Amino acid sequence: MPFILPLVLFLLPFAPPLQDSPQAGIVIHAGRLLDVRSGEVLEQTTIRIEGDRITAVESGYAPPKDGERLIDLTHHTVLPGLMDMHTHLSGELGPDSYNEDFRMEEGEMAFRMVGYAEKTLLAGFTTVRDLGDTYRLTISMRKAIDKGHVIGPRIYSAGKAIATTGGHADPTNGVASWLRGNPGPDEGVVNGIEDARKAVRQRYKEGADLIKITATGGVLSQAKNGLNPQFTLDEVQAVVDTARDYGLKVAAHAHGAEGMLRAVEAGVASIEHGTFIDDEVIALMKKKGTYLVPTLMAGREVAQMAEIDGLLPEIVRPKARSIGPVLMKMLGKVHRSGVKIAFGTDCGVSKHGTNAQEFGLMVEAGVPPMEAIRSATWSAADLLGVQDEIGAIAEGYHADLIAVTGDPLQDITRLEDVAFVMKDGVVYKKAKIAVEAVDIGGVR
Ligand SMILES: [Zn+2]
Repeated sequence: MPFILPLVLFLLPFAPPLQDSPQAGIVIHAGRLLDVRSGEVLEQTTIRIEGDRITAVESGYAPPKDGERLIDLTHHTVLPGLMDMHTHLSGELGPDSYNEDFRMEEGEMAFRMVGYAEKTLLAGFTTVRDLGDTYRLTISMRKAIDKGHVIGPRIYSAGKAIATTGGHADPTNGVASWLRGNPGPDEGVVNGIEDARKAVRQRYKEGADLIKITATGGVLSQAKNGLNPQFTLDEVQAVVDTARDYGLKVAAHAHGAEGMLRAVEAGVASIEHGTFIDDEVIALMKKKGTYLVPTLMAGREVAQMAEIDGLLPEIVRPKARSIGPVLMKMLGKVHRSGVKIAFGTDCGVSKHGTNAQEFGLMVEAGVPPMEAIRSATWSAADLLGVQDEIGAIAEGYHADLIAVTGDPLQDITRLEDVAFVMKDGVVYKKAKIAVEAVDIGGVR
């Protein structure tokens, strides 16, 4: 027992600010501030924060008032907290991914997620839209983060993705028959209109914030076809119509054009991946205002993994090789067409916390830096339907903001090294930044 106390004392200063409530009265001096709504860069700006909200954005460096703490970001570029519209916080692709469902308890997976959520937040992503996990763990994680038990981004969770039998996100694909069972709408597997309605209502009951469907085959599922349509038009229509009744938007995973066409026609809010998008789909997306979430990182990651023997199942490798590289060309074309783009990485396929690498790929594919940043802030907030709450640094908005050194409009990879992260008025990261006050209790 005698050496336990010193150990505890040693650990305490490094404990995360789990119960750190938003602190009133913070003043930030921002050297450069990206106004993602106008596309302008504002020099020398003061941001005032009270509790979890931004109360004012003023030109020039206004001094802190009595009791206000000053955070000096005069040598930084400040921008809204980043938003990733396609994550899977429940896991991370690796050699054991295909059998961990049989070897790991849900509780173990939940504890593992704590680290993924923290990495994501500290990488500057203050909001994520999580597009599916088998055990609805991201819904539980959302609650744990909101209550302050663990730290992580603001989560909008789809819960279990909805698939058709044998389709991408049927959790029993590739499973031996004696273990397979016959999953139905409660488990997110549907056939026909009634099932589709039931599956949406079940997600609502479980606390999902939106609905995810797998409109076509996918790369990583243990099935041959990665492109084929997997919902009939009336099935996807039933999903979208039922979701609308409950105030839920629908995100549709899709690689092949026919499945995309049906999903867009039915009225989904976003197409995820969009690999083999064609002119007909592009025209319909423009007409309907459908977002594309490109997930270039996932394409790169699986193409690299496909070259390593024994890492991905043999049935997956040809799909990973063929789909990955197409995404880059696809995004250039979609961007030029004027279809709305929201930032998404599919992290969980690639490592959590590396989300910002997507920016570099987007710019390489032909998206200008400011538009790439807007896709991860202002446009992402629009896709979520919360553009009056988050996605910009403006009066009344949640105090979600980050800072980087240098100019991300000149070098977009600056976003891969975030120096400062604030979510809801709480500072979670402040690397090499002066804070002119001794009392920064709970802040690290
Ligand atoms: Zn995904």
